[in-house]
Amino acid sequence: MQRLKEISRGIFEEEFGAKDSCLSYLSDLKWQDGYACKKCNETRYSKGKQAYSRRCKKCGYDESVTAHTMFHKLKFGIDKAFSILYELANTKKGANSIWLSERYDINQKTAWLFRSKVQTVMTSSKEHPLENQVHIDEFEIGTPQKGEQGRSKSEKKIRVVIAIEYRDGESGRGYAQVIDDFSANSLRGIFEDHISTDANVLADGWAGYKPLKEDYPNLKQILSDKGRNFIMLHNQIRNFKNWLRGVHSYCNHEYMNRYIEEYFFRFNRRNHRKSILHKLIDRMVNSCPLTFAEIQCVAI
Ligand SMILES: [Zn+2]
Repeated sequence: MQRLKEISRGIFEEEFGAKDSCLSYLSDLKWQDGYACKKCNETRYSKGKQAYSRRCKKCGYDESVTAHTMFHKLKFGIDKAFSILYELANTKKGANSIWLSERYDINQKTAWLFRSKVQTVMTSSKEHPLENQVHIDEFEIGTPQKGEQGRSKSEKKIRVVIAIEYRDGESGRGYAQVIDDFSANSLRGIFEDHISTDANVLADGWAGYKPLKEDYPNLKQILSDKGRNFIMLHNQIRNFKNWLRGVHSYCNHEYMNRYIEEYFFRFNRRNHRKSILHKLIDRMVNSCPLTFAEIQCVAI
């Protein structure tokens, strides 16, 4: 099977503009390690009713190419789904559900649901902790509440902690997390999920980091010097905030982690653009389907 390469929109349309080519691609991906019936585990099959579906030779279960994947019960064509994935994998600006619903002529709730499913599969596996030099800091995002315009007194702050590898002044990989407060207990989460215990972590003078030195012996603190010691990190915080502002005028606390995961899924693959779309489709195929109700309460 040919892997998707970094491709222009034009070439993408040529390759995946037709439903058949998308289904063929999914079929190759879904059964790349061979076929086994989901009901009885039989490995012999014949052609099913729908294009690229497979029918078990023993029990007759006919499995479509999208069944048991995040494409299950898709309310629009698979070619549109691929096109949206292309957009979400490649465009730095991101795309919100209003834009997607207009661009692809689909209901906004449908667009929101699909986008949320994509965000779910973009969630980090937490298996590749940051290493070597890591800079860490916290920041706040003001989010006007739904139905309000601009800044208001009831604006709520969402607190976020961010850690990014520092490589000779440049940024490496990174992660961020919503936190309840700036206490050591809250800050500990990103360390446990995303930072190697022997990484050389650099934080500012905030007292909340001190207790973490027990488990992270290479954690050091220096004065921020009005941000001068954390220029790379602060640039990345600004980039993230700009992206968020461009995609969402307001953002619920509970969904903020999803936007963070989406952002860093792309950010951490910015130098591997050739494989990002393939990776995204692969994760969609290998994730269990989620319903609208489930998506609403999935806490990442
Ligand atoms: Zn079977």
